[in-house]
Amino acid sequence: MSCVAGKTILVTGAGQGIGKALCLKLADNGATVIALSRTQNHLDELVHENCNILPVQVDLSNWQETKQALTCINNIDGLVNNAGIALNAPLLQITEEQIDRSFNINVKALINVTQTVVPKMIEKKQGSIVNVSSQASLAGLAEHTVYCGTKAAVDGLTRAMALELGEHNIRVNTVNPTVVMTAMGKQVWSNPAKGNPLKEKIPLHRFAEVDDVVDAIIFLLSDGSKMITGTNLPIDGGYTAV
Ligand code: NDP
Repeated sequence: MSCVAGKTILVTGAGQGIGKALCLKLADNGATVIALSRTQNHLDELVHENCNILPVQVDLSNWQETKQALTCINNIDGLVNNAGIALNAPLLQITEEQIDRSFNINVKALINVTQTVVPKMIEKKQGSIVNVSSQASLAGLAEHTVYCGTKAAVDGLTRAMALELGEHNIRVNTVNPTVVMTAMGKQVWSNPAKGNPLKEKIPLHRFAEVDDVVDAIIFLLSDGSKMITGTNLPIDGGYTAV
């Protein structure tokens, strides 16, 4: 396991799925974890599982409230911009509201959180930021036009941030998972008619486990990846190698 002991790490979207599992593993490995999410009872459950985790409840769609909620952070080594939503629809049925909500959470809020905490990393002259993108940024998925667009934006802004922040010894990377059977993954892919054809195209013939994603994020947070910045790490069983 890559070393994160002693580091202070903020994880967004910590209430469920990948973010929740990441918080628990980081805390088990000796990190101080600040867990940001929207739904209070999800955070309560997380803290019940590990009382050392520090919860921050805020809806990332609110720009000012998010900034306010993060003013308590004075020390930070790592940031994982994990919160995301998938509002899928065929192209001709996409609504303006779906576009606005998707870009608001998946892109705008990510920039807001990063902009808010990076000054603390600059003071420490080091940091690692991991943005949770998707296979959907690298390969098209039917009925995922908006989601693919938001995640391609995440890859693009990651490269730009890496260029700006390199001089402060702050690294910025993405992980790009294939389907993971979290609440979000199950929405679409638990239907075998949709899931099986996609799985067949993955060279390893399986979807990703939550831990596959968590371990890759922890590697990018750790000093084991200290020369890696501005890149995308697919966790896709080879899907985008085809
Ligand atoms: P889940 O839906 O299981 O969890 C998403 C988390 O994000 C929840 O804790 C939720 O909060 C939080 N969140 C959503 N909106 C807001 C908001 N407005 N403010 C604060 N928190 C919010 O998703 P996953 O764990 O599956 O996904 C995590 C990341 O991984 C996402 O960025 C997703 O796009 C990406 N991803 C997922 C894949 C998959 O197949 N599952 C594949 C590739 C990438 P709460 O529960 O507290 O309301």
